[in-house]
Parts: sequence; C-alpha cells; structure tokens
Amino acid sequence: MRGEIIAVGTELLLGQIVDTHSAYLSRECAELGINVYYHSAVGDNRERLKETLRLAGSRSDLVLITGGLGPTEDDLTKEALAEVLGLPLVPHPPSIARMEALFARFGSSVPPGNYKQGLVFEGATVFENRNGTAPGMAVTHEGTTYVLMPGPPGELIPMFEEEVRPFLLSLLPGDEVIISRVYRFFGIGESHLEERLKDLIQNQSNPTVAPLAKEAEVTLRLTAKARDADEAERLMEPVRREIMKRVGGFCYGEGELSLEELVVRRLLDRKRTLALAESCTGGLISRMLTTVPGSSGAVKGGVVSYTPDAKEGVLKVPSGVIERYGTVSMETALAMAERARELFGSDLAVSVTGVAGPDPVEDKPVGLVYIGCAEEGRPTRAYRLRLGGNRQGIQLRAAKYALFILQE
Ligand code: ATP
Ligand code: MG
Repeated sequence: MRGEIIAVGTELLLGQIVDTHSAYLSRECAELGINVYYHSAVGDNRERLKETLRLAGSRSDLVLITGGLGPTEDDLTKEALAEVLGLPLVPHPPSIARMEALFARFGSSVPPGNYKQGLVFEGATVFENRNGTAPGMAVTHEGTTYVLMPGPPGELIPMFEEEVRPFLLSLLPGDEVIISRVYRFFGIGESHLEERLKDLIQNQSNPTVAPLAKEAEVTLRLTAKARDADEAERLMEPVRREIMKRVGGFCYGEGELSLEELVVRRLLDRKRTLALAESCTGGLISRMLTTVPGSSGAVKGGVVSYTPDAKEGVLKVPSGVIERYGTVSMETALAMAERARELFGSDLAVSVTGVAGPDPVEDKPVGLVYIGCAEEGRPTRAYRLRLGGNRQGIQLRAAKYALFILQE
C-alpha cells in the first residue's frame, strides 16, 4: 500500500511549530507495513490545499491528513477535499449531539460556526473525538482512502491509537493480523535501555522492538505480524521474556496505564491511604495523583513545605534535624515523611526534598534529591537520587521516582 501524509497549517510553514505529526504517523505506518512515500506541509489556503490533495490522490492509495478540522474560517481541510472529490458533506448527528452536550455542560449553546465540525462525507467512517469537538473520518474515492484527523496532538494521538490504527489494519490484506504490546519503563534512560536491548532492536523483525522516550519515561513496543492473535502472542513471548530478563526491574506496567494511575489503583486495591510532603517538586506529585479519577479514595492530602520554616512550622520537622543535616538530606526526607503521615493520619506518606536548580543549595549539587517513605508497620526509608536535566526535568523525574517507589 502506497501512503502519504499531509500536514495542514500555516504555522508549520512559518516555522512556528514543528511537524511532529508526520513523523509520528510515519512511524506508525512503517509498523503497519504501509509504505509512506511523501510528506507534505501546506498552509491554510484553499487553492494550495486542493492542489496538494489532488496530487496525493493521483499517486497514493492512502492519504493521511492532519489539521484544519477546527471551527474557524481558516480551517478548510474538509471543504477543500469535498471540492476535489466532488463529494457532499452531510451532518453527522452523533457528532453534533456530542458537541451540543459538551457546550451544554458549560451552560452555553454551540456557536453557529462550530456546526461545520459536525459535517462528514456521506458514507465516511467516522472517528469519534473523545478529546475535542471535531470528529475524524475516512472516505474512499476512486481507489484512494483519505483519512482526516484533527491537529491538536491531544486529539490526534488518542484518535489514531484507538480508532484510526484499527481502521488501517482493516484495510490491510485479511490473512494477517498485526498485534502490539506496549511496556512502560521508568528509572532507565532511553539510551541505556537501547544499549541493553541493542541486538533485539536491530535484529528482531517479527516481532519488532521499538523504544520511544517521553516525559522522563521510556516505552517499548513489540509488534508482531501473524496469521492470528495466538500466533502473534507466541512470537512475542520469548522476546518479551528476554527483555524482562534484561531490564524487567525498570518495567512498571503495560499498555496505556500511567504511573499515577497505577499508584492510585494499587492504593485503592490495598485500601491504603497516602499523604505527601513535597519540597522541590512543589506539589507536582499531588497534582499528578489527583488527576486520576477516584484518587480521593486514596490520597488524603499533602503539604508543600518549600522553606525550612515551613518544614519546621507547618510540617513540624524537628528543628535540630534541619540544622544538623540540612534541608536537602536523608534525615530531613525521613522526618518529612513521618510527619506527613502523622499529620494526615494516613497509612503511607512520601516526601521529597532536593535541589531542582539552577543553583546549588547548602552546597548540595543540582539534581540531588531525597525521597522519604513512611509506612505503617515498616521502618521509614529514604532514597538518594542524582537526577539530570533542567529544573523542570528534575522536578518531573523526582515526582515520577516517588510514584515509581509507591507502585512497587
Ligand atoms: P483546532 O480546532 O484547534 O483549530 P484543527 O484540527 O483545525 O484544530 P490545527 O488548527 O491545524 O488543527 O492545529 C491545531 C494545533 O495543533 C496547532 O496549533 C498545533 O499546536 C498542533 N498541530 C497541528 N498540526 C501539527 C503538526 N503537523 N505537528 C505538530 N503539531 C501540530
Ligand atoms: Mg485549526
């Protein structure tokens, strides 16, 4: 199958944003066995957009298009394609109903301009947008399938993974299934992980092994092609075992489950409650955990005790501890965790104190972080970490380390 990708948006041509969608979709296509022969970027201009679509239709079996599905005048992708193909756009009642419900939740009605987002090609396969108002869609005309997807990454990526990918699989020859498994790692950098799995990544062709780094985590995707799901699982199993033998200690889960979701789930399963005492992460751990629905059943609360005064005054860390060992120390982390547990009356408490940078604190180097963990019926323990990255990176890594410790 010959595929191509068109990224729509004037911002791309002005260099205001980088076209990460084409790279993402290309990687996905490669894995599905779809050959991508062209990438194009085109501005929000009706004529040039039509010209690009016409050319794509003349040379490709599959055209993946991102962006320009918004409600404004310069969002033209659907309209341009309708003119090129000579196909009418018709209202799609479920999408319109979703849009109306969404606006109603905010106590407003749908602005008239937004209704065009509820139009789709007659007979199109419609992809529901769970994270926005513009549905995606696929339409086949004269042997070419056009797939339209929204531009915002938070809409495009879930839509692709949940709906478009399975749709593309359904277009591929029927005697084959392609099955992927995603494993999530933390505490090991992408390059270290790659180093340890180099031979597998390079030599494995079925399943393929592909690492991907994002937000201080690494995921590894195994993809197998087989006649059926059982055969695909059989092909993946020995490779999975080999991977886990080498780097299993860093693996915290499978699929789309995030660290914070995993922690909340574990706490709820075990009926345990948690409190937090955060210094250099400034509340980030509390924030991450409380984004998970249902976290109120497990997370009792937290204190952001940023200064030594706050650690002593609010959290009641004994003043001798900070005086003697410093704010960024194992002893302070231990005391913070114990005090948070007492303060909130929780089963567990986690504390973080460290140097996020850019400058050292108390002669302690940037990236030095201590995490304390107090737990009913166990001695309080602490971990000393040396984290890399800028201020934000260190904060994120410290927060994820705390979560990683909690899920163990
Ligand atoms: P909206 O309703 O936001 O207008 P849309 O489907 O019309 O959605 P665009 O307006 O083209 O999408 O893009 C919205 C945003 O998505 C852009 O501002 C940009 O941040 C991001 N985006 C769009 N295309 C790409 C791309 N190819 N690569 C990376 N980011 C992109
Ligand atoms: Mg737009």
